[in-house]
Amino acid sequence: MILVWAVEKFRGLTGLFLAQPGDSSLTVLYEVEEVIYRTKSKYQLIEVVRLKMFGKALVLDGLIQSTETDEYIYHEALVHPAMVLHPNPQRVLILGGGEGATLREVLKHKTVKEAVMVDIDDVVVEVSKQYLPEWHQGAFEDKRAIIVIEDGFTFVKKALERGEKYDVIVMDLTDPYGSEIAYKLYSIEFFTDLSKILNSEGVIVTQAGNSFFFTKQYNTVVEAMRSVFKFVAEYNVWIPSFLYTNNFILASKKRIDGIREDTIDSILRTRGVRTRFYDGRRHVAMFYMPPFKRD
Ligand code: SAM
Repeated sequence: MILVWAVEKFRGLTGLFLAQPGDSSLTVLYEVEEVIYRTKSKYQLIEVVRLKMFGKALVLDGLIQSTETDEYIYHEALVHPAMVLHPNPQRVLILGGGEGATLREVLKHKTVKEAVMVDIDDVVVEVSKQYLPEWHQGAFEDKRAIIVIEDGFTFVKKALERGEKYDVIVMDLTDPYGSEIAYKLYSIEFFTDLSKILNSEGVIVTQAGNSFFFTKQYNTVVEAMRSVFKFVAEYNVWIPSFLYTNNFILASKKRIDGIREDTIDSILRTRGVRTRFYDGRRHVAMFYMPPFKRD
């Protein structure tokens, strides 16, 4: 984490600040009230801080992963579109998602019999269990949850050998440009492996960071998914603490467009899913991309 003791040059501000890069010419400063915990694992620098504006936040290698005040927007937007687009999601694979909030959202669907969460870093999971209970809300303890500490890349190779199949795969990894440990999970090779462990009606979704500031890296991920899956759809959501719209990419072997708002609301009701951000109208709105994207 780049902690800056700001002096007069930052318009007279003083205090502890967390600097977040937009691109090479833009940096945003977040005022930090408290560093709650900091440790270095084999893979990354892990920090739990309290931001004045957004409350508690998980920060990995200096980059905000999610914050107390708006994590529900990010996690609901990541999980539910893929879940409702599958008629009966029973086996779900989560790659990454150390905070446990993606697991929490997946488990809201009554159809789910098994949710396997694979994170490379046991320290992120332990820190989240201890310092971020608002995120996981007991999801790690759910009988349907299986937590595996392994590189997602290796896990999927082994799953292929074991002949495993999943209905929904949710990739909640660090950004494609954020850390080296996640980089190869955004590759054509990896998406090809994922397509082989996905059932015929299966749906896969990945968070993909921001396409405006990191256009090249984002386009590489979309192209990789397009080269493997017949149907690919992009959507985005404004995440206040990221100060940008976060992009998500969803893919399947079957058509994924044209679902109606009322159908989504009825699926959520039937499966007992209660949300704060996501519903049928939001789903449709999130998938409206600007003209330059549609073209
Ligand atoms: N919301 C997110 C963001 O903004 O980037 C992602 C959050 S989640 C904390 C990212 C997780 O991905 C971390 O817990 C990290 O350990 C995990 N991760 C990174 N590379 C991985 C890999 N190769 N296999 C499995 N998990 C990985």
